[in-house]
Amino acid sequence: MLRIEEARQRLLGGIAPITETERIAVPDALGRILAEDVSAPVDLPPFDNSAMDGYAVNTQDPVWRGAPPFALQVIGTSFAGRPWHGKLTRGAVRIFTGAAIPNGADTVIAQEDAEHTDTHVVFNKTPSPNRHMRPVGDDVKKGSQIFARGDQLRAFELGWAAACGIETLSVFTRPKIGVFATGDELRAPGTALAYGQIFESNRLMLRSVSANLPAHVRDLGILSDDRAQLHAALGRAAQQHDMLITSGGVSVGESDYVRNVVETLGSIEFWRVAIKPGKPFASGRIGNCLFMGLPGNPASAVVTFLLFVAPAIRTLAGGHAPAPIEVDAMLDVAIEPSATRTDFQRGRYSQQRDGLHVAPTGSQGSNRIGSFRDANCLIKLEPGVNVRASGERVSILPFAGLLG
Ligand code: AMP
Ligand code: MG
Repeated sequence: MLRIEEARQRLLGGIAPITETERIAVPDALGRILAEDVSAPVDLPPFDNSAMDGYAVNTQDPVWRGAPPFALQVIGTSFAGRPWHGKLTRGAVRIFTGAAIPNGADTVIAQEDAEHTDTHVVFNKTPSPNRHMRPVGDDVKKGSQIFARGDQLRAFELGWAAACGIETLSVFTRPKIGVFATGDELRAPGTALAYGQIFESNRLMLRSVSANLPAHVRDLGILSDDRAQLHAALGRAAQQHDMLITSGGVSVGESDYVRNVVETLGSIEFWRVAIKPGKPFASGRIGNCLFMGLPGNPASAVVTFLLFVAPAIRTLAGGHAPAPIEVDAMLDVAIEPSATRTDFQRGRYSQQRDGLHVAPTGSQGSNRIGSFRDANCLIKLEPGVNVRASGERVSILPFAGLLG
């Protein structure tokens, strides 16, 4: 049985990222992975401008050589978007935040430090140069690299691109991913259940949990525990997708054919990882299509998706898959972790006065979809310690970090 780190390395190391690219409009690019390095086509800000509402003046103006108060004539106004076009040698120009600094001015005095009369403005102190000014290129220099190939475009990158006037970006095409559920007992909600059958829930959960990943995730339906049907369906789907995800049928039961079928169509790269839940996780490929075989129990399916499939999708999509964020939290109740596998219990963490606290969300059976109720993290417990007492510090993986 592989340890989780080794399984992750083998899985991600074996993935050849998508190479096909497309050029799309920036407003359509949220969540997509950049296929090019991008340099700023302009300086930001594009011109020296004021950081305050106040007065632009010239510190070389002879008026400052006298004694305070200093009375300067107001000779113009510079608004954001409507600059004052003259040249300032003496006097003051009324100026507002974001407005261009007039030619000749070398500082801005905040209006809080000024008194305005009908024609003049009065200051009590000599100004120093370069105050409250945002010089051209201060935020971003024209020609400097702002994004790198492989970056995922979040709200911030889109805003940044817009601020630079960039209209289109080259991104990787989204990998096509198909999701199957397998199991004779599974029926879609809306159908009547015969004795021994259950409603199928993994496809919907897995597709929904992938909603923010840079991929096209398609529901391919439910397959029976039937070798011939599995063989035909997986073989056909592998030709049309970059990755297939199945749930169920990868354990050691007599009707668990999925792994065996993938071996006849392609290969299994590894099977079984020392984690709980999710031990039967299998990874392989059918031709150029990656195969991710998740166990059928809902908690196992989601945990293995978060730990393995989500980073595999990011890597396949041309992006980065850094190790998930792990932080310490104080355990609020005692728990008994697995003795032999890294345990990933569903938990809820919260910010308290003395830091993060966490408690598991009830009973942790891998069949229990209810263990996700209120859960916002996985509590990671290494094997070897029988009981983790209340008050001990444990590692948690917030869902927010796992889902990017
Ligand atoms: P398996 O991995 O096929 O041995 O299934 C393990 C358990 O998970 C069994 O109790 C199945 O009935 C259940 N199960 C498998 N697939 C699903 C699914 N898609 N939705 C809900 N439960 C499932
Ligand atoms: Mg099954």
